[in-house]
Amino acid sequence: MDLNKSNDAVARRVAAMVSRVEGMKASDEYYYNMPVTELRGGAKVMVDGREMGMYASYSYLGLVGHPRINKAAQDAIAKYGTGTHGVRTLAGTLDLHHELEETIAGFKRAEAAVTYTSGYVTNLTAVSTLVGRGDYVFSDKLNHASIVDGCMMSGAKFRRFKHNDMESLERMVADAPADSAKLVVADAVFSMDGDIIDLPRIVEICRKYDAWLMIDEAHSVGVLGKNGRGIEEHFDLWGAVDIKMGTLSKTIPSVGGYIAGKKDLISYLRHASRAYIFSAALPPAQAAAAKEAFQVILDEPWRVEKLNANTKQFIGGLKARGFDTMLTETAIVPVLCGADETAFAITRYAQKKDLFVLPVVSPAVPVGLARLRATVLTSHESEDIEYAMDVIAEAGRQVGVI
Ligand SMILES: *Cc1c(COP(=O)(O)O)cnc(C)c1O
Repeated sequence: MDLNKSNDAVARRVAAMVSRVEGMKASDEYYYNMPVTELRGGAKVMVDGREMGMYASYSYLGLVGHPRINKAAQDAIAKYGTGTHGVRTLAGTLDLHHELEETIAGFKRAEAAVTYTSGYVTNLTAVSTLVGRGDYVFSDKLNHASIVDGCMMSGAKFRRFKHNDMESLERMVADAPADSAKLVVADAVFSMDGDIIDLPRIVEICRKYDAWLMIDEAHSVGVLGKNGRGIEEHFDLWGAVDIKMGTLSKTIPSVGGYIAGKKDLISYLRHASRAYIFSAALPPAQAAAAKEAFQVILDEPWRVEKLNANTKQFIGGLKARGFDTMLTETAIVPVLCGADETAFAITRYAQKKDLFVLPVVSPAVPVGLARLRATVLTSHESEDIEYAMDVIAEAGRQVGVI
């Protein structure tokens, strides 16, 4: 296709995006796709020749670069090489994949688990394999894009309930025919706001109306619960979630995604979900790294404790400085700015002072709710966090947010 010659809808769409990106670059507001050249423990990184404090990473427990995890990956390469022989169903399965799935099942106290090559694809394939035409799927308004895409792809009747509003959910579920198949799906920790789903209430509703419950733990594994085992440990509601979804790319320093649950459910997904059947297996190094990481979380409980302490310091310190951090209780900390321009201005200031922190603006969040979306990590030291908060406060004062 010659973009210069055609002026159809595709060409116009391409041109509109390119012009928006170029505009942001020209006004020094483009902070995306910045290459990190060196990991200095993960809480500090090198970017463009300077050291920056990292406040945008999802390596919550600081496991990226952990010696045990690196060694597990290296040993796996030495033994199996760098790729698999295709899809899991045919020649792609290694003993390592089974060991990883057993480890995940143990960590999540589930009967079994199945893995996929990304978290995104895990949601897409799980939702669209479990429900279809004639069924109902209920999704929190702030759920991750991969869940939304899975719901649309499924062909089921797709209902979005108000964010973490259990009355809104119950009204919708009660409205669906009693004999229809129903799936309720939500993030455990919401990825833009850092707040936690009301698990006790959502479980009650699912039980009352005989609906399946799926929870995405991308930002709760390693973060919630005394041992970092996630949302069920946090609420002491073991067994409450039917479909326990998570990624291997955030706290777990690898790539991939999983579903844990009852063994029949896992067997069904292993034999019916298209992303398992038609996409290659996780590479050996990534499977081995993920497996080791779950074991490290349990062997080094101080990491979860320190994350909790750092989170308290960061949220408490920002509030004391006059910021609105919305409803977060976790390591994802929104710093409300208001207008998109204000969020860009604070980001620009923070970046100049060597903080790697990023803005989230419309349409990713509603107009008027633009924010910095900062993450706090186990690997941050207390004085790093104080410095970061002081920089954000200087910027906030300059633009009149505080
Ligand atoms: C990051 C994320 C995913 C996707 O996981 P990847 O492993 O990055 O593909 C899914 N759900 C939520 C809530 C996420 O934050």
